[in-house]
Amino acid sequence: MDDRQRQEICDYGCRLLADRLTTGTGGNLSVIDRHEGVIAISPSGIPYPDLEPEDVSIITRGGEHVAGRPPSSEWQLHTTIYEQRPDVGAVVHTHSRYATTLAVLGEELPPCHYLIAVSGADRIRVAPYATFGTAELARIAAEHLGNDWCILLANHGLLAAGRTLTAAYNVALYIEEVAEIHWHARLAGTPQLLSAAQLAAARERFASYGVRGAGKP
Ligand SMILES: [Zn+2]
Repeated sequence: MDDRQRQEICDYGCRLLADRLTTGTGGNLSVIDRHEGVIAISPSGIPYPDLEPEDVSIITRGGEHVAGRPPSSEWQLHTTIYEQRPDVGAVVHTHSRYATTLAVLGEELPPCHYLIAVSGADRIRVAPYATFGTAELARIAAEHLGNDWCILLANHGLLAAGRTLTAAYNVALYIEEVAEIHWHARLAGTPQLLSAAQLAAARERFASYGVRGAGKP
């Protein structure tokens, strides 16, 4: 695990605040180095602007703390996703407002906008509630994520995954945007949803533009 990856955790932590995906010390993010078998994860209770690379927690895949400050209380959420999904290189967890509003209602996010395709799914499903920071929450989240890149956690928040931290972050950012648009559209009328064929075409465009981890199309 090199300093560049720990710096990335600091940089994207600050972006969580700048993009209004979290407040205070909320949310957590990680990257895995599968070659070395270690994970860099945001530490518990330090404001992101104060975070230095050496503060970023390093844990093993089994959760043993090996360097930096003690890890986020949600470390099991991250290690469990990495165990289940060999294609995942980074995980971002937030309580961003609109995604969490739907999660509180127990409502999945339907395909109201083509950007939902960044999730790899036609809709963002809701995993049942479990207490924060527990192995049970980690198990339920990983189970419901399946092969998608995003899941809502009932009465809690959003979990996004990606091959890189940039990709996972962008999934969290865009799905929050789609959740906000859906919320406003629903208040104003009846959202018109995309068909399976329209979503498949959007996913194809994402793939051909290599948009994962790049800019917004
Ligand atoms: Zn949380």
